[in-house]
Amino acid sequence: TPVSTAIIGAGIAGIACARALQAHGLPVRLFDKARGPGGRMSSRRLTEATVDLGAQFFSVRDPAFRREVKAWRQAGVVATWPEALWEASTSGWQRHQDGVERWTGVPRMSAVTRHMAEELEVVTDTRIECLEPEEQRWWLVDQHEERHGPFDRVVLAMPSPQARTLLQGHEPSLADECKAIIQRPCWAAWACFDAPLPSLPGVDDDWQAVRLAAATGQPATRDPLRFVSRNDSKPGRHGQGESLSLMARLEWSEEHLDLDDETAARRLLEAFREHLPSSVELPEPTSLGAHRWRYAQPDVFAGGEAVNLDHRRSPAGLALCGDGWRGPRVEDAWLSGHHLGEALAADAP
Ligand code: FAD
Repeated sequence: TPVSTAIIGAGIAGIACARALQAHGLPVRLFDKARGPGGRMSSRRLTEATVDLGAQFFSVRDPAFRREVKAWRQAGVVATWPEALWEASTSGWQRHQDGVERWTGVPRMSAVTRHMAEELEVVTDTRIECLEPEEQRWWLVDQHEERHGPFDRVVLAMPSPQARTLLQGHEPSLADECKAIIQRPCWAAWACFDAPLPSLPGVDDDWQAVRLAAATGQPATRDPLRFVSRNDSKPGRHGQGESLSLMARLEWSEEHLDLDDETAARRLLEAFREHLPSSVELPEPTSLGAHRWRYAQPDVFAGGEAVNLDHRRSPAGLALCGDGWRGPRVEDAWLSGHHLGEALAADAP
């Protein structure tokens, strides 16, 4: 029988790994604790609007990833966005031109991972709490103590602190690799409006996204906001109400991790107000909320791309992938999963 693989984590890294294995005819099953695939590329459908909770867009640099994105575009699940980025600082709002190609999911970010997972077996609402070895194979035990398996191989496709917990007692060398990668938290808020946003002097009315420059002269822990996007300006969402996604600075998030959702959202919206000219009145939101991402973004990695694949796999059949092994972006997560899947397929007996 062909080598069977369980992948824990149906974010883009786990899904990319699964697709590479499946393309080589190897059986694979994904598990995720959430209601659907997507991980940090997930979106929330509210009555007023659909908001992206994690990544707002992604850039493309690597040729293999570019080919993949081309296939997504042909399937209609991505489009380029934003057309222009703005940068807000004490000297006002400026258009930011850098020539980088940026894309987003259509009609929401989670459309990408949904599309990729269409032909994969994904077991959702299933949190894997421990791994049990048995005769060179692995059983997965979930939150209801139900056992899944056995599998020849298990890929942990999740942020390193979560992977480390599962590795405890099994694979000290891989657990140590996980320890070297710090995943920092991030608050991500949204606010919906039933009136259009006011015009800003010198800024296009249809501005799509703005990066907020770090405030000078005060510590980053007191500077809440780093990025704001208008969800209704994204492709495939025209006609829905005005809504903002507001991403917090990592330093501020670390310092304010214990806030409740509503307070975090209010603080981020207030910070956005402060970036508008005093003559401009932002309407009151009709609803707002926030998501606390505990493991949002890997910090500068010990090895970066140099983290050799061999350091992320064990002879006992365990392996690791995810953005943390490569870099802080969607592209890194995809490449990490794709390359691991190719390597595992290459040495399947
Ligand atoms: P994840 O997407 O985190 O997937 C891991 C999955 O594992 C999750 O679905 C989780 O539910 C599951 N899981 C964890 N533990 C278990 C368990 N025990 N059992 C079962 N399932 C489990 N990148 C960009 O390129 N551009 C951006 O603009 C951008 N903005 C971002 C903004 C925010 C707020 C955040 C949080 C991230 C952003 N990123 C951005 C980063 C990007 O989203 C990530 O790099 C990428 O999505 C990570 O994918 P992944 O598959 O490695 O991990």
